[in-house]
Amino acid sequence: MSRKLYFGAGPAALPQSVLEATAEAILDYNGCGISLLSIGHRDKLFTDILDEACALTLELTGLSSDEYSVLWLQGGGRHQFAMLPMNFLGEDEQAGYIDSGHWAHEAMETAEYYGEAVTLASSRDDQYTHLPAWPKGMPAGLKYVHITTNNTIYGTQWPDIPACPEPLVADMSSDIFSLKRDYNKCALIYAVAQKNFGPAGVTLVIVRKSMAESGARRLPDVMSYAGQIRAGSLLNTPPVAAIYTCLLMLRWTKARGMETIEAENRRKAALLYQTIDQSKLFYCPVEKESRSIMNVIFRTHRQEDEAAFLQYAEQRQIVGIKGHRSVGGFRASLYNAVTIQEVSALCEAINTFEQQNNQ
Ligand code: PMP
Repeated sequence: MSRKLYFGAGPAALPQSVLEATAEAILDYNGCGISLLSIGHRDKLFTDILDEACALTLELTGLSSDEYSVLWLQGGGRHQFAMLPMNFLGEDEQAGYIDSGHWAHEAMETAEYYGEAVTLASSRDDQYTHLPAWPKGMPAGLKYVHITTNNTIYGTQWPDIPACPEPLVADMSSDIFSLKRDYNKCALIYAVAQKNFGPAGVTLVIVRKSMAESGARRLPDVMSYAGQIRAGSLLNTPPVAAIYTCLLMLRWTKARGMETIEAENRRKAALLYQTIDQSKLFYCPVEKESRSIMNVIFRTHRQEDEAAFLQYAEQRQIVGIKGHRSVGGFRASLYNAVTIQEVSALCEAINTFEQQNNQ
């Protein structure tokens, strides 16, 4: 099978070595004679996987196991949109939300089921083409402040995690492990696996232990961070194979090193933005200061060029570049597994398409 150049936003590309090791483990996990798909979740074979995945997560984020717990949950990003206010936002209480994109907005709307979600800043009126300014002040007594560090659909990204007077909760689904961050600024971090560190089916949560214990209401363990911590992510049967692939990705990430990964991600993004900015047929609608190094959004000035370029790219084995269905255009996702050579091939396709069609 020849590998296509895949720029999908999630489920996303994974390194060939990780795919091969997963395939091998599915046939026979580490030579134990049982498939990865069949090993029991309470078996030491799996608890070893879980322990190493938790330890590597803390190592790569620079967080301490005394202060933070790592959870592997199901239900994806939307489940976290609900679980968060369910745990920490009482009916008469307020939480602050930074409305920087589609997913940030949906998280905010979901909080309204449980308490009051206050919009602290928004770029919605500008179609999210830039990040909103971080609020100068905040109402007193917010239970937490929610931020989406990378806006997958609109291609904007917070360069740093802002300092926040209230517990900061970050949806890092599309940029965790992509650059060095001061994760200590966050009380809770969540990230779906299927973008930068694994397959769909598992969501990583890193929560400050004191925060997890500060629940707003009584909840069954399956909905409670504290309950899930007590159960060690083994309350219900976890997606064993998905977590194993995450572990392989975490090992791969560690072996390459966060500094190298960040430098490469910046090079890939700079190359693509430069190509788009120099183009006469394509443009990037996102303001320069807000641009994401993970999801690069671009469009064509002429409508007819859109379908033509999609087809042209496909002929060159370049796939997964269609923009989100709600915004159209193009989106190239440059997650960790995407190589600089693949990005160069996309840039070359943009340049040659331009030469052939710019008249
Ligand atoms: N947050 C962000 C930043 C996303 O990009 C997405 C899209 N995958 C979600 C949340 C929603 O995740 P899910 O599809 O797992 O509900």
